[in-house]
Amino acid sequence: MSVIAFLETENGSFKKNASEVASYAHAVAQKMGGTAVGIAFNATNAPEMGTYGIEKIVNVSDNGLESFNAQGYAHVIAEAVKKEESSIVVVGSSADAKYLAPLLAAKLQAGYAPNVVAVPDDVSDFTVKRTAFSNKGFAFTKISTQTKVVGVSSNAFGAHENQVDCQEEAFSPSIDTMGVSSVEIDKVTGKVSIADADIVVSGGRGLKGPENWGMVEELAEVLGAATACSKPVSDMGWRPHSEHVGQTGKPVASNLYIAIGISGAIQHLAGVSASKTKVVINNDPEAPFFKAADYGIVGDAFEVVPKLIEKLREFKAQNS
Ligand code: FAD
Repeated sequence: MSVIAFLETENGSFKKNASEVASYAHAVAQKMGGTAVGIAFNATNAPEMGTYGIEKIVNVSDNGLESFNAQGYAHVIAEAVKKEESSIVVVGSSADAKYLAPLLAAKLQAGYAPNVVAVPDDVSDFTVKRTAFSNKGFAFTKISTQTKVVGVSSNAFGAHENQVDCQEEAFSPSIDTMGVSSVEIDKVTGKVSIADADIVVSGGRGLKGPENWGMVEELAEVLGAATACSKPVSDMGWRPHSEHVGQTGKPVASNLYIAIGISGAIQHLAGVSASKTKVVINNDPEAPFFKAADYGIVGDAFEVVPKLIEKLREFKAQNS
């Protein structure tokens, strides 16, 4: 019995979430006495996933699916599930994965549980722990269909090394994109993407206007971070919508999230709760974000941030 892990790639390399999805699939496979099989599209170094317990990678290439296509990917993964006689598919929590998973579940007549944070205690019962209520609580959800699709929450289960030999197998089924394909992709280049960033520096309305974003970008540059913002900031056109973080924006699962002049509304926190360490800079000691913060600085961003940049530059100079 195999567990299939959908391992996302970009330009041939595995994305940050692939190691976590692979680790989860390996853990479930171990409990079932089976193996973890990865499926990747156009991976250039597929066997590296052996580090996370993947024993075989089905690599799909030369098929016209050079970029993500939810319908096409769902079709191919469903074919792989049949070929591998698998009954469990593990996907991540990226925007692509959340678009793909319901389509895949419908094709497989499978139950789908997103935002899963742990491996089920009993795989024959398959009740999974999931985040719920915008990450304010947990739900325990049983998937009772024969085939199951599990969406693993970012930065919850974690990546665990379990080195095994990983065989690569080419897979070229017929492709059905159900008449939907991208004709052009216009992507921000030269910047760290929010979804894959280890560090994110984010600004809110407390920064008063777009002219003050220089210090946010400078701090991000010193840290090698991506820049992000709250919803009103992108709504007012101070920053592009691609940077909007939260319930209605992008989720962030970075190791470090620095929030500057952001109040910490529940809709914003919903998008950043998967980040490991949250640092909040706000001049209002009562700002709700401090309750969710690991470290807080009560102070004026226009004083604190330049000092932080200066100290980080000094630190880097001393340690380079
Ligand atoms: P504000 O609430 O205005 O907070 C600004 C903060 O800056 C304050 O805490 C203030 O103390 C601080 N500040 C002011 N001056 C300084 C200074 N000099 N130095 C330091 N700090 C300073 N919001 C999102 O972000 N993402 C979402 O996805 C999202 N989805 C939503 C969905 C719905 C259905 C709804 C109703 C709302 C949604 N919102 C979302 C909006 C959300 O409710 C808040 O209004 C928003 O997050 C507030 O943005 P903010 O913290 O930048 O601004």
